Amino acid sequence: MNYAKNILETIGNTPLVKINKLTETLPCLVLSKYETFNPGNSVKDRMALKMIKDAEADGRLKPGGTIIEGTSGNTGMGLALAAIVKGYKCIFVMADKQSKEKVDILKAVGAEVVVCPTAVEPDDPRSYYSVSKRLSTEIENSWYVNQYDNPSNAKAHYESTGPEIWQQTEGKVTHFVVGVGTGGTISGVGKYLKEQNPNVKVWGVDTYGSVFKKYHETGVFDENEIYPYVTEGIGEDILPENVDFSIIDGFTKVTDKDAAVYTQRLAKEEGMFLGNSAGAAIKGVLQLKEHFKPEDVVVVLFHDHGSRYVGKMFNDDWMREKGYIE
Ligand code: PMP
Repeated sequence: MNYAKNILETIGNTPLVKINKLTETLPCLVLSKYETFNPGNSVKDRMALKMIKDAEADGRLKPGGTIIEGTSGNTGMGLALAAIVKGYKCIFVMADKQSKEKVDILKAVGAEVVVCPTAVEPDDPRSYYSVSKRLSTEIENSWYVNQYDNPSNAKAHYESTGPEIWQQTEGKVTHFVVGVGTGGTISGVGKYLKEQNPNVKVWGVDTYGSVFKKYHETGVFDENEIYPYVTEGIGEDILPENVDFSIIDGFTKVTDKDAAVYTQRLAKEEGMFLGNSAGAAIKGVLQLKEHFKPEDVVVVLFHDHGSRYVGKMFNDDWMREKGYIE
């Protein structure tokens, strides 16, 4: 018989799927690394399991412990699935701009969720960074995951996502394009691909309201770049240790409107029911058109599933309210 011994064994080995209509204007082949096939419906299952395994191995996470993390939902789902199989408790701290579905989904897999305001400075005691840190000092036998600075995050992608893309493209990948939040995905995959072929170009997709693009181009952390934005999962107002700027060739910024509109278009024109950062990522690929030649093989990574956005990007009333559609 051929079966997985538990749900965690089904993580990874996701398909690579060609984009057809949306990329018609590009000269090259565009393939999507389709991460919603993971059991938690996002790429984050990979790094969640890796972070837990590494913390178990060096004693940061002990039997019966409580896992604490600031998460926009996907990392939380990955951690929750692993925690169930391995016998840990989970407390997740989220910013209030995240969709209600994300909170409900985490509660559905047994986690406790604490919601914090979005529009405060990272070092404000009410921010989700600060609250996560405080809870981890107050709760006994707890472990603060800190996906932003935890090196196991990028390592998971260096060990699994990167090698899968290399093998699936038979080493023909020329460009990797991906939304950047903690930086784990771009840094781990980018490092692996560049080690196989230094000519592979690695592009990050950023949002307006985030510091990455300007910092990459100038080395300046410019606070004027920071303001609230709608796009979920990508962009930051901090520089996470997991963003390895040295392996990134460039960033392109996608507007909230374009990210939302392209999230709808992926569903309606490609049959790809995906999250908001997938819309940003595919629009990012289109914005990079001038960098692509006919023989290129561009891989874009799609992080998560559309079900988490039914009250937002897949709700036309919400889209009209924001002025994203007529
Ligand atoms: N898209 C979504 C939906 C996410 O949840 C995240 C993680 N914040 C990202 C993109 C960015 O991935 P990474 O953290 O690996 O940079």
